[in-house]
Amino acid sequence: MTISRDASNSPEKDFAEAFIDRNEHAISTLNDSIFYFGELGMQEFETAKLMSGLLEEDGFSVERGIAGFPTGFCATYGSGEPVIAIHTEYDSNPDNSQRAGVTEQASIVEGAPGHCEGHNVNGAVMIAGALAARRAMEKHGLKGTLKVFGAPAEEQLVSRPYIVREGYFDDVDIAIAPHIASEFGVGYGLIQSALISATFTFHGESAHAGVAPWKGRDALDGVVLMDAGVAQYREHMTKTMSAQRVITNGGDQPNVVPRKAAVWWYFRDTTADGAMKLFDRASKIAQGAALMSDTTVEIDVMSAVWPVRGNQTVAELVQREYERVGQPQWSEEEDQLARELQAKAKVKVEGLSREVHRMKGPASQKPSANDAGDVSWKVPMAKMYFPANIPNINFHHWAAGVALGTSIAHKGACAGAKVLANSVIECLVNPAVVAQAKETFAKEIAGTPFKSMLPPDQKPPVTLNAPTMAKYRDAMREHYVKEKPVFS
Ligand SMILES: [Zn+2]
Repeated sequence: MTISRDASNSPEKDFAEAFIDRNEHAISTLNDSIFYFGELGMQEFETAKLMSGLLEEDGFSVERGIAGFPTGFCATYGSGEPVIAIHTEYDSNPDNSQRAGVTEQASIVEGAPGHCEGHNVNGAVMIAGALAARRAMEKHGLKGTLKVFGAPAEEQLVSRPYIVREGYFDDVDIAIAPHIASEFGVGYGLIQSALISATFTFHGESAHAGVAPWKGRDALDGVVLMDAGVAQYREHMTKTMSAQRVITNGGDQPNVVPRKAAVWWYFRDTTADGAMKLFDRASKIAQGAALMSDTTVEIDVMSAVWPVRGNQTVAELVQREYERVGQPQWSEEEDQLARELQAKAKVKVEGLSREVHRMKGPASQKPSANDAGDVSWKVPMAKMYFPANIPNINFHHWAAGVALGTSIAHKGACAGAKVLANSVIECLVNPAVVAQAKETFAKEIAGTPFKSMLPPDQKPPVTLNAPTMAKYRDAMREHYVKEKPVFS
């Protein structure tokens, strides 16, 4: 058996693709259900229930609440080697509720969270791809194990470092992570950056700010002095480092000296080591700020992720499946919607993507991060981008929510699911490609052993986003899709 077999000739893949074509309506319903759930990270209760339930009904054994994540799951089918894992995220973003197909900012529920990147489509692709691959495994007697991981709270970079730390990827041979884009694309080498997410909570003493401010020790001073310290340090950061923050607690009202204040920082670098150095330096600055303001500081590392890397063998495998499946066939109306939105968003007007591009050499590393990073240093992995959003539109903006509950997302989800199912099948029927991936992976990471950057006793932040979700859930429920996706 050769490694780069002709991907066009495969009864197993024909079978999986026919399953996806037959279930286009169920896939669209699943996609839209997750879109209207619009759940923030760590609060994806409806989403995880629906996704894991579909896997369970189809014969997977499901473990819920993995690694301390109430909305995480691992579904397993089959036995023995190879063990192929697919994993993705399904969380939304705050204050990005956007009506599907409307090319101006129009909230479904004012102020509510919503999908504005397309993690709802990620969820639909993973489930449809998993079901198609499982059916093909059963029908064609394919040996091996398929594991499907639901990974909560990607937007806060939270879950996969914990899931990897708990050993869930120890027996995995190859991993594939589907993610929405506006075209097919896969890369190898370093793709994204390392990131450490930490909150710094300063504790002081309150006092009447007008009458006796000298009696207070101002926690907000600690936050502000830390901010000044990091700003001063920026001059000495390496060119690849960056740091961003939001003040999550700045006190309550001006006539009370705040006894508690908090700032949430993201520290980025191209390497895990660099992100750690930046975090260590910022922690010293925080201690200095506490000393100056006579407060104390408590540091909570919510997450720490390695830079996402792509394995060349798995990337080439996925690329062959892109070429086999081909671009979704967009209608005139879909292209028109894309052009209208691009014009409104003042970006290049060029409609929807038309072709599958060739993979050209190693990827160029982006400053963005994804919590799948740790997986990609543990096992050979590909981040598999599929076309289900509109080109040139920036994520985390209302405009990136417009296509996610329309036929653009539905067609993209079907195309993505086919590539995912076929990639899993290729790993199961072609042991040589699995062996080669392991070989190239060992060479790629040589000299950089993986070690979790999480503090050893760190626990997942389970209450993250709970108040925001509680505030909007009732109003959002009115818009939930009533129909349940049924696969046949
Ligand atoms: Zn994403």
